[in-house]
Amino acid sequence: MNVMELDLMERPGSETVARREPPPFPLTSRRARATDTIVAVGDTWIGGGSLALMAGPCAVEDRAQMRTVAEALCQAGVKILRGGAFKPRTSPYSFQGLGRGGLEILAEVGAEFGLAVVTEVVRPEDVSLVAGYADILQIGSRNMQNFSLLDAVGSSTRPVLLKRGMMSTIEEMLQAAEYILYRGNRQVMLCERGIRTFETYTRNTFDINAVPALKSLTHLPVIADPSHGTGKRDLVDAVAKAAAVAGADGLIVEVHPHPEDALSDGAQSLTLEAFARLVAELRLLGQALGRPLS
Ligand code: PEP
Ligand code: MN
Repeated sequence: MNVMELDLMERPGSETVARREPPPFPLTSRRARATDTIVAVGDTWIGGGSLALMAGPCAVEDRAQMRTVAEALCQAGVKILRGGAFKPRTSPYSFQGLGRGGLEILAEVGAEFGLAVVTEVVRPEDVSLVAGYADILQIGSRNMQNFSLLDAVGSSTRPVLLKRGMMSTIEEMLQAAEYILYRGNRQVMLCERGIRTFETYTRNTFDINAVPALKSLTHLPVIADPSHGTGKRDLVDAVAKAAAVAGADGLIVEVHPHPEDALSDGAQSLTLEAFARLVAELRLLGQALGRPLS
């Protein structure tokens, strides 16, 4: 059954209703829960009508970098710091992340500045290690259908940020989330981060459709990643705002003190100054939309 058929099912009075099978995502579907799931993280929350912001470099590079970013986040009123310690890179020659050392820096800097931290976990056997340092476990695009990893984070008590596979449909993403909920972890956020299309001008094509589609299909919070969704710093601002208007519950944005020197994803990383401007404008936009920044 595809998403369109599910839509048909929910139309009252349709004769097809009784004959349809249950949706392929019984736990993540809107039918499973009358109200939006709200994910509590540190002293903030995600979902339920506010706009949450997460930001930081693609990869944790060193303590000074993370402290500089954390300070900028605090000044902008942003509560969640991102940074990859385990980096699943397309090329084995690219920077693979600092591993455990990166987790230590993240957790220390998060504690110093009172920020919650989100970071990626790439192997099932590392879930408890990463959960010991991070407030949110990120499942990257390349691992959206790594089912043993989904099972492992599903057994964790940490909230999960599940990124859309770069070649996955909306329905496949919901089924991936279903794995996590099925294992008992209901604190899941879905992240639209762009998909691969025939377009090559941008790194990925941010699927704006996915934002309202997911909002109508599931009670889980929907996060937008305009950084990976575009791959180009100059496009991040507009796509971030478009996602907020489309109904995203939050944004995750890559920022770097010196994007030109970044060890990964510099081309799509905002400077701290550009990020501060974006947050100020999102605050105004949030007011206009009745969705204050959380
Ligand atoms: C990231 O968040 O840095 C990342 C690797 O993202 P994705 O999995 O969406 O490519
Ligand atoms: Mn990145």
